[in-house]
Amino acid sequence: MLLVNLMRIVCESCHSKFKLDRNPVEPTGTLVRCSKCRAVFRVYPPDIVKRRKHPRVKTQNLIAYFAFDKHRKLISHGMGIALDISKSGILLETPNSIKSGFLVLTATDKLKKFIEVNGRLIYSKKSSRGTYLCGIEFIGNDERVIDFITKLIRVYNVQRNNLFIILKKKLYHTYSRSNPSKRSPSPSSH
Ligand SMILES: [Zn+2]
Repeated sequence: MLLVNLMRIVCESCHSKFKLDRNPVEPTGTLVRCSKCRAVFRVYPPDIVKRRKHPRVKTQNLIAYFAFDKHRKLISHGMGIALDISKSGILLETPNSIKSGFLVLTATDKLKKFIEVNGRLIYSKKSSRGTYLCGIEFIGNDERVIDFITKLIRVYNVQRNNLFIILKKKLYHTYSRSNPSKRSPSPSSH
């Protein structure tokens, strides 16, 4: 007997809603093509999304990541922005995709001291901006994870700005000025 377990998906381009058999969907994501607009995008099993059951805190902390292979050899590193943090993990936006599983994340606390935590890459998907959204699950003891998150949230609450946030505000400002008013709705033809 064939068991079909349906999951709901939404096309990232045209936002059409579909039901998809979740059985062939890989935990690392599976590419699907929208039957309406033909856009190709990656879908993830619903439990990967649900796994992060702890409350999330929206932040914009700057995070450096170091990615290691299974022999604990450093294979890549870079910077990312933590978009949200929960006790189970962090959503990191990075300019490049993170290709390996084991990660060390570092940041600075309120006193500019380095803090770090270990994590495991659960998924990495390309965003509409061309950046990558990387779901990372924290590993290691709770105390250390909680210490890391608390310090990140604290530094974000105190500082409210970092290189990324300042630049984003500046770019947004420039953009708003070059587009002084919202375009008035074009006459519709009905
Ligand atoms: Zn579509």
